[in-house]
Amino acid sequence: MSDDTKFPMVRPFEAAQRLRMTRRGLLAAAAVGSVGFATASGAQELPLTPQCDDGGPATTQQTGGPFYRALSPDKDDMAEPGSKAERVELTGFVLTRGCNPLARAVVDLWHADENGAYDEKGFRYRGRVYTDEKGRYRIRTIRPALYPGRTRHYHAKVAAGGQLLLTTQLYFPGEAGNARDGLFRKELLMRVSKSGDAALAARFDFVVALASR
Ligand code: FE
Repeated sequence: MSDDTKFPMVRPFEAAQRLRMTRRGLLAAAAVGSVGFATASGAQELPLTPQCDDGGPATTQQTGGPFYRALSPDKDDMAEPGSKAERVELTGFVLTRGCNPLARAVVDLWHADENGAYDEKGFRYRGRVYTDEKGRYRIRTIRPALYPGRTRHYHAKVAAGGQLLLTTQLYFPGEAGNARDGLFRKELLMRVSKSGDAALAARFDFVVALASR
């Protein structure tokens, strides 16, 4: 196994803590009659089971680019309180190609800030979350600003069991820059919706190729 496939510093103890917190959240949601993954915006709830076909293709891989930093902190809300940028709540599943949700997978997200800059010294707009026992993840952040040469995007890595499974980028629908960006792929578009003053609700399901499933 090459070092390229190893995901640095996956921390099982912290992952277990996160899972317990998430389970409490799910129980609270069940108590008020919700059947899905309660979201802050209320605009979108994930179903308990994913809708997908067995044997579908894995999510397209893309370059991580020059701005990835390892060892990003566990952080499910990356938005800074003073930021004027539009808030985004990104949710989805991590699924195997056989449509099995992957629990305790790591989703590591990093992106440009409200000025189109990456934090190359610290961990602003860099963070990782873990999927719950149903394979669902949720990250609150901002809509990143554009930077020269690229359309609007997030970067993401997905790992499980200490192994890096996927490096890709996620795109926003309706962006004029999509057609001009040679890296843009329409299958990597998030589904984005907006209701009232709530955060933009963005949805993307990662499908990862595992040798065994
Ligand atoms: Fe980028």
